[in-house]
Amino acid sequence: MSTETPLLQQHFIRQIVRDDLAAGKHSVIHTRFPPEPNGYLHLGHAKSICLNFGLAGEFAGTCNLRFDDTNPSKEDVEYVEAIQRDVKWLGFEWAELRHASDYFEVFYQAALKLIRGGLAYVDDLSADEVREYRGTLTEPGRNSPYRERTVEENLDLFQRMRAGEFADGSKTLRAKLDMASGNINLRDPALYRVRKVHHQNTGDAWPIYPMYDFAHSLSDAVEGITHSLCTLEFEDHRPLYDWCVDKVDLANDPALWQSLVAAGLPTTPSKPRQIEFSRGNINYTVMSKRKLITLVSENLVDGWDDPRMPTIAGMRRRGFTPAGIRLFWERIGVSKQNSTIDMGVLEGCIREDLDAKAPRRLAVIDPLKLTITNLPADHAETLTFANHPKDDTFGSRSVPFSPSLWIEREDFAEVPPKGFHRLKPDGEVRLRGVGIVRCDELVKDAAGEVVELRCTLDLESRTGMPGSDRKVKGTIHWVSARDAVPAVVRLYDRLFDVNDPDDDSDGKTYKDHLNPGSRRVVHGYVEPAAAGLEREDRVQFERLGFFVADMHDHTHAAPVFNRVVTLRDSWAKQA
Ligand code: ATP
Ligand code: MG
Repeated sequence: MSTETPLLQQHFIRQIVRDDLAAGKHSVIHTRFPPEPNGYLHLGHAKSICLNFGLAGEFAGTCNLRFDDTNPSKEDVEYVEAIQRDVKWLGFEWAELRHASDYFEVFYQAALKLIRGGLAYVDDLSADEVREYRGTLTEPGRNSPYRERTVEENLDLFQRMRAGEFADGSKTLRAKLDMASGNINLRDPALYRVRKVHHQNTGDAWPIYPMYDFAHSLSDAVEGITHSLCTLEFEDHRPLYDWCVDKVDLANDPALWQSLVAAGLPTTPSKPRQIEFSRGNINYTVMSKRKLITLVSENLVDGWDDPRMPTIAGMRRRGFTPAGIRLFWERIGVSKQNSTIDMGVLEGCIREDLDAKAPRRLAVIDPLKLTITNLPADHAETLTFANHPKDDTFGSRSVPFSPSLWIEREDFAEVPPKGFHRLKPDGEVRLRGVGIVRCDELVKDAAGEVVELRCTLDLESRTGMPGSDRKVKGTIHWVSARDAVPAVVRLYDRLFDVNDPDDDSDGKTYKDHLNPGSRRVVHGYVEPAAAGLEREDRVQFERLGFFVADMHDHTHAAPVFNRVVTLRDSWAKQA
């Protein structure tokens, strides 16, 4: 369990847990993260993961990873594997890996119990008729003509539903609650439906599938969950959640979960409490699974782990850090207030984490040749650079230096704008760690473009010499052209260029707001110590930003770096 994230927020769920433990309501807490395996996890899921696993870690409890796989047709093993990888990568470990489908027999037994108690009935109304009978927010619903079937008849019909005798959609099992309830969720909600579809975990064993509220509440109870944390849209479902837990009463009815004991699944049922919190929303991105799937399937991005995607897999490939993401959600806190968080806050957390943890290296991404004319052409030197300006424990490294260098094209201006303190004709600048150079001569190509700067190095100003404290206004970075390694550098930026890509009130959809500048590929040079980094190592290229060696494409011989984030927030003024 990850413990390095500082605890910043005294939020209401943390307080409930603390109070429950102090009151002796539980000796230990159990939470769960229950994704539906129908897509990749995204930044919003990360909020729930950090909350559920984080609380378990903080209070010495446990957290399960449970696949909410009650909806057979949309699910896929690719997602099941990706979800596990992503939760681990975020730094968390589950106590147990469970599937809601592990409990299908328990749900079935529970449904039989409700029927025997006169609390559920088999209905023959079609989906359209059910809708018609349900009523509206202002009008009560009407009872189904099948509502008063006898217990015997309901038992018989439900067992035959289970045996596969009825066609999809022809029958449902419904809770017998109150068709006049002000809460529409309580107007005899469906508990089971007939669906003859293959299931990725249970195969063809089940022609009936439980509905979300029934399966979710009972899964929590089966696993002994104490605090069932979910997003606000389930607030109105809570009475149904409690009804299912209370009426089935797993804790006092071991016969219902005999099948799990027999299958070797440890089971200590509880009476879980559902607590709702607001979803995490972030600007400049979309987080609906449907939209994310569309971006991938229509090739608008390069797959689920495209570094611009808000998926955990995408953020990982982008070079975001698990600690930075955890810090972000901790800083945002947990409440019942809906709000949208600025993407800049997340980027700021990543920057903060990387500033402390990423070693510094030199790279040039838009190269211009600079030749030092007062050193012999074959001059070779090894300079020593600190790996981190604020932390000696990072040590130092050797950086090769020669009279033939690459500098950043934007660090030179033939006609400098006002206040330009870098290199210009006859001007001086400090080469980081070397000394002061003067630009004596420009070499241009046939098109008139500057292709080389010929400079003299003030040998008295070299690092370590008495004249090294001579002041010039600008310092620029460089790499030795003789030693540097050519590298592909991908400059990523936000995927959307508007604050709220979900807003389609002007007739434009999120697809119309893709940021054309969100991915730029350039060919630059990196110092040898950067080429030698391993995949997923992160660095700061001085003055350029934080970068990561690409997890798929980087090699020592042909380095590939992704820009994680710039050194400063360039979007703040536009927000
Ligand atoms: P859907 O159910 O429509 O497929 P979902 O976003 O609810 O989409 P789930 O896989 O059901 O996806 O989510 C798993 C858990 O993550 C749920 O407990 C859900 O409440 C939580 N979750 C999903 N999105 C967010 C979000 N933006 N902020 C916080 N928690 C979220
Ligand atoms: Mg959901």
